[in-house]
Amino acid sequence: MPNAFVDDARNFKEDNPFESMMSRFDNAAKLLDLDPNIYRILRCPTREMTVYIPTMMDDGHYEVFVGYRVQHNFARGPAKGGIRYAPDVTLDEVRALAAWMTWKCAVVNIPYGGGKGGIVCDPHKMSLTELERLTRRYTAEILDIIGPERDVPAPDMNTNEQVMAWVMDTYSMHARHTVNAVVTGKPVELGGSRGRREATGRGLLFVIQEACKKFDLKPEETRIVVQGAGNVGGIGATLLHEAGFKVIGISEIRHGLYNPNGLDIPAALAHLRKHKTFEGFEGGELITNAELLELDCEVLLPAATENQITTQNVERIKCRILCEGANGPTTAAADEVLERKGVFVIPDILANAGGVTVSYFEWVQNRMGFFWKEDFVNERLQDTMVSSFNDVLSYAEKHKVNMRTAAYMLAIDRVAYETKMRGIYA
Ligand code: GLU
Repeated sequence: MPNAFVDDARNFKEDNPFESMMSRFDNAAKLLDLDPNIYRILRCPTREMTVYIPTMMDDGHYEVFVGYRVQHNFARGPAKGGIRYAPDVTLDEVRALAAWMTWKCAVVNIPYGGGKGGIVCDPHKMSLTELERLTRRYTAEILDIIGPERDVPAPDMNTNEQVMAWVMDTYSMHARHTVNAVVTGKPVELGGSRGRREATGRGLLFVIQEACKKFDLKPEETRIVVQGAGNVGGIGATLLHEAGFKVIGISEIRHGLYNPNGLDIPAALAHLRKHKTFEGFEGGELITNAELLELDCEVLLPAATENQITTQNVERIKCRILCEGANGPTTAAADEVLERKGVFVIPDILANAGGVTVSYFEWVQNRMGFFWKEDFVNERLQDTMVSSFNDVLSYAEKHKVNMRTAAYMLAIDRVAYETKMRGIYA
């Protein structure tokens, strides 16, 4: 009998995030000499749910949306991971993102497995009331498999605190009491954690500061290019700017903005909020997203979406450090070229783990019913990010592998150990 995801001879497609995840997993598993039984188990998700979500649109007609929740692994604890709303969501993508959550939680050593959800929809074309009905019905459909001890969703692309509040309320209505630990990334007033909104960006700042220490780079001489101006890129750029780094490029969906002398990030983002575009901003020149990625800089921070650095453009990437704010911004096929060019990669499963780390703090606060001050959250986040960065770096140096391979090896080794200790229930 062929084993799912092991023996199937699917053609490798560079832009399939699941294939990208799997080829890194395989490479790390080989180097770890992973037990073949554990290998077969960890290569597969535990559970995948597809739901069809009837939703009344504002004009009274119904659309049926497709949604997914994939739970990749539970060896370390409840599944954990965001829910994304986008027109091009696929099951393969959600599956990859769920597995990445397993490895991410293991890299920063928090007691979770990995999960991810997605709904195929275009949230920019939907009203708030349509989004609320969609979110509530999706939550009702996945109700049996989520919960504080089962699977804890969070925001991801195009979902936010409001969406999390609806998920929490729907789940709570069915439970007949408020269950705020069922999701993280909630509004602070409803049990969210202080510092959660900024956590992914702040985590990026901490790992970039560590990498700069390693290369003896002072903030004021470190030119940073950020792709994306949302919750990850926008907040990341703001915090880097505040910390004295020279952010010379940033982009939104349509345009990049470039100023070799450094951009006034708060002013650029205020312009974007007001005009929904960087067009018309006077403190920098407009360039394309493709040009932005190829700018000469010390740190490139892709913080938008998957498959941005591929075999098509990797030869032209000029950064010294690549810090992955998005999940899966680099394809597996591009890794080799980065390695040959000597680019130091801070891989996604380490770099952007600040978000899920503060999600963990939120869940802990919800379970004890006691809320921490923001400084306390940020200090603990710094501890986690700095020690995880250094764990991965020492692992890489000890085993003579690059940072990405080291992060995967460290994570897989932890999850494999826990799987073995628990044993396989039969
Ligand atoms: N969506 C975020 C991520 O990809 C956060 C997940 C969480 O907080 O559970 O890491």
